[in-house]
Amino acid sequence: MSFVTTLLLALVVAGSPGKPRKVRNMPDGWTWPPSAAMKEAGARCLAALDAAEVQHRPAAPVKKIATPIEIPEMRIGGITLVPLRGEGPFPMDCHFAAAIAGVAPELRALGVRSLHFRTLHKYRAVRKRGKSMRFLSRHAVGLAIDVFEVGFDDREILRVKAHWSAADHRLAKVAAVFEHAAAFRTPLTPANDPRDHDDHLHLEAHMQLGDRDAALVPKDEP
Ligand SMILES: [Zn+2]
Repeated sequence: MSFVTTLLLALVVAGSPGKPRKVRNMPDGWTWPPSAAMKEAGARCLAALDAAEVQHRPAAPVKKIATPIEIPEMRIGGITLVPLRGEGPFPMDCHFAAAIAGVAPELRALGVRSLHFRTLHKYRAVRKRGKSMRFLSRHAVGLAIDVFEVGFDDREILRVKAHWSAADHRLAKVAAVFEHAAAFRTPLTPANDPRDHDDHLHLEAHMQLGDRDAALVPKDEP
C-alpha cells in the first residue's frame, strides 16, 4: 500500500462519524502568526481571485485572518453578500471569497442572487446551545459566514427559519451546493443541526495548505 493510500485511509478513518470531535478546529497546518506556507497559500489565493475577475482589496490586519481582504460592494461571481446588521467593512480571508467564487455559477443556476448574513468575521469560540466551547470558531479566521436569508432572481427572499421546510425545498437545494463543493466543509443547517442552526446556514470554507487535494478531504473532517 502506498504512503498516499495509507494517508488517505487514515484521513477517512479520522473523519468517520462516531469519533470524538477533536478540540482543534483550525485548518490542517494552520498557525498564528501565519506560517510561510500560509502566506504562500494566501498569495496563490489572491492570484486565483484576480484570475476569476473578483474585485478585492487588502483589508486592515485583523486577528486572526491570514489573508484579509475586502470585497467592494460585496459581489462575488454574481452573488451579493448582504449584511443584515452592521455596516462593514466586512473583512474575510481570501480563501472564503475564492470558495464563494467557485460555487457562484451553481448558485446562479439555482437563481440565487444574494446571501443575507449576520456574522462573517468575528473573533470568538465555537458556540453550542448558547455556550462557548474551548475551540476557536472559523468565523475568527474569516472563513465562515452565517446566512439567514437567500435572495432569488424572482425577487423572492427566503428565510431559513420560516422557509427551510417549504415544499419546493429551495433552500435545501442551495445548501446542497455547499455540501457537494470540495472548497467547503459540510454546512450546518436545520436538517443536520436543528438545535443550533434552525434559523441559519453556517457555511465554512477550507483553507488548503500544502498539496492536499480539496476533493480528497472527507466532508466530515473535524
Ligand atoms: Zn456560524
